[in-house]
Amino acid sequence: MSKLGKLLKRIYCAVLPKSEDLEEVLSLNAKADLAKLFFFADKTREKFCGNGIVLRGIIEFSNFCQRDCFYCGLNKNNRKLQRYRISKLKLFNAVKYLVSCGIQTVVLQSGEDLALDAAWLGDLIKEIKSNFNIAVTLCVGERKARDYKIWRLAGADRYLLKIETSDEKLYSSMHPRMDFKNRLNCLRVLKELGYQVGSGNLIGLPGQTLKNIAQDIIFFKRNDFDMIGIGPFIAHKHSQFAGKENGDVGLVLKTIALTRIVTKNAHLPATTALGSLDRDYRLEGLKCGANVLMPNFTPQAYRKLYEIYPQKRCVNEPVGACNFCMDKMAKKIGRFIDYSKADSFKGRFLI
Ligand code: SF4
Repeated sequence: MSKLGKLLKRIYCAVLPKSEDLEEVLSLNAKADLAKLFFFADKTREKFCGNGIVLRGIIEFSNFCQRDCFYCGLNKNNRKLQRYRISKLKLFNAVKYLVSCGIQTVVLQSGEDLALDAAWLGDLIKEIKSNFNIAVTLCVGERKARDYKIWRLAGADRYLLKIETSDEKLYSSMHPRMDFKNRLNCLRVLKELGYQVGSGNLIGLPGQTLKNIAQDIIFFKRNDFDMIGIGPFIAHKHSQFAGKENGDVGLVLKTIALTRIVTKNAHLPATTALGSLDRDYRLEGLKCGANVLMPNFTPQAYRKLYEIYPQKRCVNEPVGACNFCMDKMAKKIGRFIDYSKADSFKGRFLI
């Protein structure tokens, strides 16, 4: 077995991989080495997740945000951005349309909107769950434990709260007035409440090192997340990181591949951000460990306004058009679209 083959095997078999081993793989650049890495990750994906590509329909229902994360276009200091909140009726109708397209998971996403009333969202979740047999995922940021509880009792199944970087110092340097420990605490509470929990990171953040990324992968493994979203940092001109260099797509793909090899059966999306660089790299993501795509079902009038990063993909396409495109993508690589709810694989496979 080659030296790289042995290294990948060691990472695959480790209860918790060594940071140095992960860093060594993250620094690979030779074409043949990358091909080996991606092949290994793809085989791991096939073994633990099968060949289905799972769909999560996303609806971005408010772009108000109280935070000023340095990498994000929705930061509260961006006065150029027209803010919106979608009414409950419009939101319900968007979910109805998503269901009519055969999607069985809705992701309700917003900025950290101070005006988001826990009871309002709880009622909406109840309405969705009593009308449709679908999974509801929330992605609305840090909240009090009692809000998470209201939504869980209302029927919410999953929650996404990306850590962005697991390095406390780096985290603090780009999240003013946010507390890393509180974020960890939110993740803990969500797990305790029985949500399927998703996290994830950004690759290419200013100041981020390969060691930081290796530590992120170890963090994902340690916390046994059900979903992990890994995407490139893309500089937004109305954010603190305006003009900074974008994340390197090769490094994003290596991180996805390693995360697959280490976490085995977590759901890993080929993120929309990966499709929003100089070209669409989601197919590459799907070929190196990813098993999820996230079609956008935000009503057309609001899509452009949910601009976390610039040149975001699929903002001009009609709602639902993504489905056709994703079907084509799956066929291109000999896979298929899995229209089921696709709950977490955790507990179904013993590693
Ligand atoms: S990353 Fe989230 S919390 Fe931070 S500014 Fe953007 S929308 Fe708000």
